[in-house]
Amino acid sequence: MTRSRSALVADYSGLTRDRHYGEGRVGEKPFIVVDTGGFEPVAKTGILHEMARQTKQAIAEADVVIFMVDARLGISAHDHDIARLLRKTGQRCYLCVNKAEGMRHTSAVAEFHELGLGQPYAISAAHGDGVADLVDIALEGLGDVVLADEPEFQVDDAEPTELDSVEDHAVVELPIEHRIKLAIVGRPNVGKSTLINTLLGEERVIAFDMPGTTRDAIEIEFDRGGKKYTIIDTAGLRKRGKVFEAIEKFSVIKTLQAIEASNVVLLMIDAQQEVSEQDAHIAGFILETGRALVVAINKWDGLDTDQREQVQRDFDRKLRFLSFARVHTISAMRGQGVNAVLRSVNSAHAAAFAKLSTPKLTRELQAAVEQQQPPRKGIFRPKMRYAHQGGQNPPLIIIHGSALDSIPDSYRRYLEGRFRDAFELAGTPLRIEFKSSH
Ligand code: GDP
Repeated sequence: MTRSRSALVADYSGLTRDRHYGEGRVGEKPFIVVDTGGFEPVAKTGILHEMARQTKQAIAEADVVIFMVDARLGISAHDHDIARLLRKTGQRCYLCVNKAEGMRHTSAVAEFHELGLGQPYAISAAHGDGVADLVDIALEGLGDVVLADEPEFQVDDAEPTELDSVEDHAVVELPIEHRIKLAIVGRPNVGKSTLINTLLGEERVIAFDMPGTTRDAIEIEFDRGGKKYTIIDTAGLRKRGKVFEAIEKFSVIKTLQAIEASNVVLLMIDAQQEVSEQDAHIAGFILETGRALVVAINKWDGLDTDQREQVQRDFDRKLRFLSFARVHTISAMRGQGVNAVLRSVNSAHAAAFAKLSTPKLTRELQAAVEQQQPPRKGIFRPKMRYAHQGGQNPPLIIIHGSALDSIPDSYRRYLEGRFRDAFELAGTPLRIEFKSSH
């Protein structure tokens, strides 16, 4: 489903035990796959119990469940238990019979009707048979996942014949994003609701538990200093049903979706807790989506100097890969540092949507190459001719030339640093793509 050989394209295994999150895509439609460990729904103790809990959580979080059984083994007592549980949840569910290569229409598959989950779909996960169909069927009619606006423009890819003519290359007009879509994410109790209340200046986000209600991430619009924001709030997430009474309020899927729906992410870290694996994995996901990022280390108020130094060290050690983002220490409760966070959100947003003109990009590229040539590979030396912008949020810089396939990562990072400095691109990841003409 995720078109990769390893279990998943991106494996956020540390996020929670026994649940792995990956991204798939059907055409333009992205979806998140949650892979669960084994499942014995009736286990009362030990590891199996823990796995059952994790799996129930995944079922509750998901829009659609695919229940996989084994064509070669036939129906087991466990399959019946799981089917019963799935029927009770009322979740949309598809029964898929795996290892069914060569027996798509045989009675071996038909037998599974007995589970009472509708028509069994025969597939071969290893060979890929039937998988695309199953995904299509499973995703049918599901609301389109909101993605942050993809840049609509495409610049003319025609290469200028000489570098001088680059100056004439039209200044690229990019659509300007007026409203800043800001996702506020972080572990439960990090202070998301408190921050939102502080920002809004009133008790707008009331965190209470109403059994039986499903509350998805909500969007709150607010204006400040002439700027318009839409906050995507993941704080009050709940999903409850008769079967899943003890679902944690933290839904990884909703957090990932909020990130995808945003332009800028505000990642909140709790200064009074160690930076956790969960923090690091959310950060990793943000990096992968290319969203602009601001980090707020909250609850700074209660700490003495030693503790503060320790938090800084912990952060630097575990989240060093977020070096492009501005980091603020704040107290959401007292409102300290909150305005500075908003200013960084603004500049991160501006950087993410910056217009990078072809002449300036190309001049910077030439200056960078003059100072340090890319390494030679065999008899070929990569030759970079010009650069133009290919997208926003994150900014994408496309470099044209020849023999660019061999450019090492270290050199890509060098160029990234140069462009970042030249265009003052703080707070956003930056992507560079090489296009060789031969
Ligand atoms: P959420 O789950 O991320 O929305 O977290 P909440 O906003 O509900 O906050 C969880 C707890 O942390 C509450 O008891 C807050 O009062 C407390 N808290 C939030 N921000 C701060 C802060 O800046 N300093 C301190 N000391 N406590 C805070």
